[in-house]
Amino acid sequence: MPFTSLGLSPALLKALADQNYTLPTPIQQAVIPAILNKKDILGIAKTGSGKTAGYVLPVLMNLQHTIETKNRHVNVLVLVPTRELAVQVKDVFQVFSPFLTHPIKTLAVFGGVSINPQMMALQGVHILVATPGRLLELLDSKAVHLTDIDTLVLDEADKMLNLGFKEEMTRIIDLLPKKRQNLLFSATLTDDIKQINQIVLNDPLVIKIDAEQ
Ligand code: ADP
Ligand code: MG
Repeated sequence: MPFTSLGLSPALLKALADQNYTLPTPIQQAVIPAILNKKDILGIAKTGSGKTAGYVLPVLMNLQHTIETKNRHVNVLVLVPTRELAVQVKDVFQVFSPFLTHPIKTLAVFGGVSINPQMMALQGVHILVATPGRLLELLDSKAVHLTDIDTLVLDEADKMLNLGFKEEMTRIIDLLPKKRQNLLFSATLTDDIKQINQIVLNDPLVIKIDAEQ
């Protein structure tokens, strides 16, 4: 199945070709049309299977209908376990954003560095990629607001739980509007992930790609 049959815009299809993404991976084939249809997703597939572009592309397509962002109110929140992943995911959003009909700004925030530049940068941001602890600090100082969130992504959710972020994740999720799209990605389907699935996802499409595929 080619990328052209998944519902992406011609501009994004050209961007994919430029990136040498010739065929969608199995997880991408399954999740891209479903995310475009505003379904909640539980996506399980091993590391390296292309989960990032699987949500980045349709989330960007869906955002094109968002006209503007209010000051310090973000539209999409991606929670990740580590600084490295925050930067990687932000980079993938930024590779594809120039191919949209209007400008979309993505910012990555994470701990271990000074908070002030992140507070300053949180103006006019549509997509925030964050580690849970630093996001809570930014929320405490009112540098960002989550009341306009329409999409939540939990990426490497298994690793977030392994690193002990469950309480932080729950505190953040409690601050979000109830009506939103939820996308949960993990390499493994553990009991903890099943529990988060029950708390966070609303009638999700469960997609599990087996290792040999
Ligand atoms: P995961 O999150 O599942 O571990 P990533 O999203 O990090 O995997 O993708 C792994 C690598 O595969 C990245 O370098 C990415 O650029 C590349 N990639 C993803 N999708 C495709 C595709 N359809 N065609 C070619 N390369 C791809
Ligand atoms: Mg990943």
